[in-house]
Order: sequence, then structure tokens, then C-alpha cells
Amino acid sequence: MDNHYREALLNKDHFSVEWEVVPGRGSFEKAQENFISKVEQAVAYGKIDALTITDNPGGNPSISSEIMGAEVKKLGIEPMAYFTCKDKSRNQLENLLYGLERSGVANLLVMSGDYPASGFQGRSRPVYDLDPIHVLQLISAMNDGLEYPGMKGLIKLKTTNFFPGAVASPFKKLESEQMLQYYKLKKKIAAGAKFIITQTGYDARKFHELVQLKKQAGYDVPFIGNIYVLPFGAGRAMSRNMVPGCVVTDKLVEILDGERKAEDKGKAARLLRSSKMYAFMKGMGYDGVHISGLGVSFDDVVQIIEQGEELVSGWQDVMSEFDFPQKAGFYYFKRASDGLLNNESQAPRTARPEVPFSYKFSRLVHNSCFEPRGLMFKVTQKLVDKSAESGFFRLVEHLSKVALFECMDCGDCALADVAYICPMSQCPKNQRNGPCGGSYEGWCEVYPNEKKCVWVQAYDRLKNYGEEGKIEDNLVPPPNWDFFHTSSWANYFLGRDHSAKKVGIQAPAKKS
Ligand code: SF4
Repeated sequence: MDNHYREALLNKDHFSVEWEVVPGRGSFEKAQENFISKVEQAVAYGKIDALTITDNPGGNPSISSEIMGAEVKKLGIEPMAYFTCKDKSRNQLENLLYGLERSGVANLLVMSGDYPASGFQGRSRPVYDLDPIHVLQLISAMNDGLEYPGMKGLIKLKTTNFFPGAVASPFKKLESEQMLQYYKLKKKIAAGAKFIITQTGYDARKFHELVQLKKQAGYDVPFIGNIYVLPFGAGRAMSRNMVPGCVVTDKLVEILDGERKAEDKGKAARLLRSSKMYAFMKGMGYDGVHISGLGVSFDDVVQIIEQGEELVSGWQDVMSEFDFPQKAGFYYFKRASDGLLNNESQAPRTARPEVPFSYKFSRLVHNSCFEPRGLMFKVTQKLVDKSAESGFFRLVEHLSKVALFECMDCGDCALADVAYICPMSQCPKNQRNGPCGGSYEGWCEVYPNEKKCVWVQAYDRLKNYGEEGKIEDNLVPPPNWDFFHTSSWANYFLGRDHSAKKVGIQAPAKKS
């Protein structure tokens, strides 16, 4: 099946452009009329490779990105539907993918998605049954021909034509948050992401960090820089962490504050800034740009593209206008001595952090009783084998895990994958493979200044033992709901759950 966007993005001689359009809440409202008129303008212009369509942005309901994607495709331009995990179970995601394949909507931007914020008669239930790595794995399996067990053996479906991408943020302040983003980036690409789009930020050195990391790591997929056309109000909200994942410093807010006093309320200045971003991203080695922003018109997008093209040859001259470091912010590379960007050697990391006693204790118990080479492993396995069916055993397990980890009894335990912090009860998005993009200065997106992101805690705990890099290669599957409210100890020692498979524990031989 033809996919003009994939061809454009994979063409090394072409710099691709995407424009984000927001379809809004309702079916036949002004928002959808505006949406269609923007699509028609983009089709006529011919220089925009794809229109990206938000999926319940900000965690609020709106018309489906998948259905609007099909309309966009019919109007003659490639859509890219945001495909988020927040509102859908794994079966609903698969169900939608079949519909998207039939409608020819192949380009998907896979994300965990903003935590649900509102809904009919109250806040919607957050679902997060899969994380973005799992969704990318599902799409890759469908692209290869999904296999599932039928009555007479395995059934293989026809291959699909999806072109999935994912998001990465180079804009995190703490070493832990930033390294975790890069670990997850590696997993996303391994799981099948065919392109990467950056989060919103304005620090040129950070944009450069990501393309340089891409080269060093040998990631052979296109990277796209995000240009959010930034007015004062949005900038101030982002600087106060009111838009998850988007980073704006006070220095930039001050500049925006000055610009808004102009007669046009700063419009010319923000469009020029966006054109300069276009220019430096092209100059730096990005493969394309993704233009977004509330109220951005078609004419604005055209101006950014055309003015940006004019500025490309002098892209290094605009770098000094994008010097927006976060206070004591982490950079992966050392700063180049001759400019604002990075040299190729890695910056020093922080000292090993202290860890709580509870972590040391959990680690000791796990290594002795749950690791196949542990001193107490065989004894524990026998005990579990004998007592697995007993109600008393379940009660002891349940009470101890609730007291120590606030266990919610999913039965497919990922404690050992997240340094003994439960991703099901402690992470509002149930992320089992690394943090979402919304953490801010180490705090959880959903509980800023209240709860540390579970992954930031896990990184620090593992770093104390020099083991933080293990996160990068540890792929954790989604919880198997067959095990819900069953004994995770039994599921482990009797060879049923994902952790048992990882360490090669087999189910014990049947007693005769
Ligand atoms: S705990 Fe971390 S990964 Fe989970 S929702 Fe909060 S910021 Fe995101």
C-alpha cells in the first residue's frame, strides 16, 4: 500500500514537514470545520508531508484521531494518528489497528498519553493496559502477520502496513530522568519505532544532544524535531509544569513577555523563532520537523517553512538565541569549547545516591530466595510448591506485599524489574519499561511535588550498585490478567509468569 509520508521521511534528500492539527470535541462543531479547512489548505499547498492528529489531548475527550485520520486520507494527504495507551485496553488497541489498516491510516505516533483529566460525569478511568513499547511490539507483530492460537493450531493473519513512530525527550533536568528517556528510546526502536519525534523544548544544545546520541548509538531511523509555536501564555504554563513534558525556562518566558507588548502581540517574533528552529534543526541533521501550537494557522505554517528554508544556510548564527539551559540541568555530552553545542565525549555523571534500607532488605531477600542461584531458592520453591493452594499462604503473601509495596495483587509481579517499587500501584500510568514523558524535575507527572517518579527512584536505587544500565535492556511484558488476584510467588516458582520465563524457571514435574 502506498504511503507517501514513509517515502518522504525515508528519502535522505528530503526534509520532511508535519503539521499537528487538533480535531476538537464534537462531531460537526466549529472545531471540526476548522480542522477540515486546514486539511484542504495543506493538500493544496503540497509541501506538508503529513498532518498529525491529536488523541484526546491533555487527557480530555475529543473526536477520534483514528476516524479523523481516515477522513484526512480521503482528502488526499497522509495522516499521522496519535495512538495513545491512556484510554484503551490491549484488545481495543488491536481492534482499532484493524480498522486503521482497512482505512489506509498507516502512520501512527505511539505514546502513553496525558493522564486523563476530565470526562462525562467526572474524570475518565485511566487504562494504560499496555505501554508504548508493548504497542510497538503489537504493531510489529501485525506487520509481520500476527499469529494467535486457534482450535486447529496457530492462525496467521495477513501482514499489515503500519509505519509507527514514538516520542523521546532530550529536555529532562535530572540525570536519572534523562538517562531513563534514552534507555526507553533504545527499547522503542528495538520494539519497532520507525521514526522518533522530540518533545517540546527550546534548548538548542539539547536538540543537538539527541541527534548526536542518534549517530553514536547507530539508530538508523529518522529523527524529527518538534517546533511548538510559543506564545506567552503557553510558555508561562509550560514553565510552571502545567503542560506535561514541555520545557520552557524562565529566561524564555521573560523574552516572550517582552515580545507580547508589540502591536501584533508577539506573533511575528514567535513565527521568526519557529523559522529559526526549522533552520537549525535542518542544519543540525534532523530529518524533518513537526510544527504544532494552539491556534497556528495554515499561513503561519507556510511562513515557518519558507522563512526557515531561507535561514538554513546560516543556522549556526541563530544558535545563541536558543541558549536555554535548565538550572543545574544534566547534559549527556560535554559542552563544545568553541560554541553552544556539544563535543563527542560524555559528561560526568553524579555520585552514587543513597538508597533506603527497605530497598537493601528487599534486594537481599530477593537474591537469596527468588534468584535461582540464591542460597534459599530451592527451599523457598519447595515451600511454595507445597503451600501454593493454601489460603493461609495467600494471606501471608498478600499482607506482606501490601504492607511493603502497596501491592495491588496483579499476580504478574514486576517488582524486581523496577527496583522493588510496584509499577501497578505506584505509577499512575503503570509504566513497566521506563518512565512516560511527563516527569518533571524527578516528580511524577500526576503528583508533582508530591511523589517521585517510580523510575527515577528505581534509577537511583540501581545506580547505588552500578546497575542502572540494566534498565536499558530489560523488556518487561504487560501484565497477564489471567493472573489477577492469584499468588505471584506461586506464578513465579511454578514457572508461569514473565519473571520465571526470564530466569528459566520451569513448572515442576507433575507428581504421580
Ligand atoms: S510515576 Fe513516572 S512513569 Fe509513572 S506516571 Fe508518574 S512520571 Fe510517568
